[in-house]
Amino acid sequence: MAKNTGPACKLCRREGEKLFLKGERCFSPKCAFERRSFIPGQHGPTGSRGSRGGRGGTGRESDYAKQLRAKQKARRIYGVFERQFRRYYGMALKSRGITGLMLLQILESRLDNVVFRLGYASSRAHARLLVTHGHFTVNGRRTDVPSMTLKTGDVIAVREGSRDATYFKELSALAEARNVSAWLNRDLNGLSGSVGRLPERAEIDGNLNEQLIVEYYSR
Ligand code: SF4
Repeated sequence: MAKNTGPACKLCRREGEKLFLKGERCFSPKCAFERRSFIPGQHGPTGSRGSRGGRGGTGRESDYAKQLRAKQKARRIYGVFERQFRRYYGMALKSRGITGLMLLQILESRLDNVVFRLGYASSRAHARLLVTHGHFTVNGRRTDVPSMTLKTGDVIAVREGSRDATYFKELSALAEARNVSAWLNRDLNGLSGSVGRLPERAEIDGNLNEQLIVEYYSR
């Protein structure tokens, strides 16, 4: 049987861990990482982890390689291109807070992430698709920009014209089965939600290492 090892799944294998990029599939036995957890292009798990990313193949990752991997992992989880990610880092650096935490808060404030965190999409990639198709409004205005950064008090909702689509008719029940982040307020009946506050560090993916990301850009 053909195996689904599409681009998203390859990213998990490249990072050597599950990044949960494909929604419910990631929690099922169909997860490609469960079946092939070695790096794409290699023919098996033998010797694949130790030399990964290290300069000179000594079997141990250099500091640079660790920083690079931490940055790439965050980029892949949030689905952000390098240029934009670097811009976010610049914004975080200029802000008054702790740079690493500010960077993560900026990433979490993206519209596609908020749609995902509210349970209105199965993954960030799915949320991104829904937003680019114009199915959501922010503060009453239609938008198709998934990278839009939201702030406390902003309200998002499924657009009136989209509510008759089969996916959105069933969304309330679907979303109810999904967790909603504590920093967001969700109104399932209204298919809407708002940003109550920015997330605290403990409410963001604990597997991310923002310190290494800051070190990467501070070189
Ligand atoms: Fe693919 Fe999700 Fe498994 Fe990653 S965690 S390999 S994206 S199914």
